[in-house]
Amino acid sequence: MPGKQPEPGPAKVVASEDSAEESLGGLTPQELQQGQAAALALEDRMALSLQTLVHAEVEQLYEEVRPLGRGRFGRVVLVTHRQKGTSLALKQLPKTSTSLRSFLYEFCVGLSLGPHPAIVAAFGIGIESADSYSFLTEPVLHGDLIAFIQPKVGLTQPAAQRCAAQLASALEHIHAHGLVYRDLKPENVLVCDPACQRFKLADFGHTRPRGTLLRLAGPPIPYTAPELCAPPPLPEGLPIQPALDAWALGVLLFCLLTGYFPWDQPLEDADPFYEDFLVWRASGQAQDRPQPWFGLAPAADALLWGLLDPHPRRRSPVGAVQDYLGQPWRQRDGEASELAAGAGEGGQ
Ligand code: ADP
Ligand code: MG
Repeated sequence: MPGKQPEPGPAKVVASEDSAEESLGGLTPQELQQGQAAALALEDRMALSLQTLVHAEVEQLYEEVRPLGRGRFGRVVLVTHRQKGTSLALKQLPKTSTSLRSFLYEFCVGLSLGPHPAIVAAFGIGIESADSYSFLTEPVLHGDLIAFIQPKVGLTQPAAQRCAAQLASALEHIHAHGLVYRDLKPENVLVCDPACQRFKLADFGHTRPRGTLLRLAGPPIPYTAPELCAPPPLPEGLPIQPALDAWALGVLLFCLLTGYFPWDQPLEDADPFYEDFLVWRASGQAQDRPQPWFGLAPAADALLWGLLDPHPRRRSPVGAVQDYLGQPWRQRDGEASELAAGAGEGGQ
């Protein structure tokens, strides 16, 4: 059985007074204020949602149609409303691994983001059953991105650009709400159609207000930003910033364009692929280009160098993606005609 989910803490965000601590993720007063406002708004919404929780067993209200997916803590099922017949996705979190507070947090983040074309729509229905908590979202019926990323290939270039544009827009929306998403990976990106025209971001279980102090829990994965792997600047942890999501977006885009990860962990002494990347960044010389990067075109190099800057303050924001759409991102044969067919489709 998986362990308990780490509890989202109270509305505590912190500012660094030392501007020289930039590379450690210190917050400006405006950033601090934005994170605190987001934390307070979430607490309010959680208090209200607690009062309106429906107390019932899921089967009384909804008929299970088929499983849609499973994550570390929850299972997601396609259900229909017993009276109305409406199709919905129900995410069910067992009480053995999820506290009421963690459930309310995830439920309320989804609600607080409001409508966005690249974010799974949340319905304001939370259910407490004997053994679980559940909430309802719009069902996205073509699975998650994992199934669409061909090993050693990725997605077609137009699909990769559409995905990049839509995810960047979703993350910008989340950041504008004072939040950091923190869990960008293909399993949390849902695909709306077999041609990969539309994508939607799901799973707000790890989303937290900007400035929340966090430590790395468990070993880093390719999507983990290097500042989170480093010793934390404050005893309680790193004040989180949207730059964490920019890093993860860079890694995800690399995967979409190559079909593999650029490295296993962004640890200089432990991961030779990451070390090679740092050597290439430092020299800027073509002969230092690491082998995994061979197939990428100059526009993709420039975009990914910006998103994968090891210094969070120098890292490009997620919105930088928009500047590179419609340019070749790969150097493979056949990409030119594919690009011509897909150019201009990258936006929302
Ligand atoms: P966890 O927090 O446990 O990772 P997720 O919210 O990511 O749970 O959901 C687990 C899986 O269920 C996802 O990876 C995805 O495949 C599927 N899924 C989640 N939400 C939906 C949805 N609204 N429509 C269709 N499939 C979904
Ligand atoms: Mg997930």
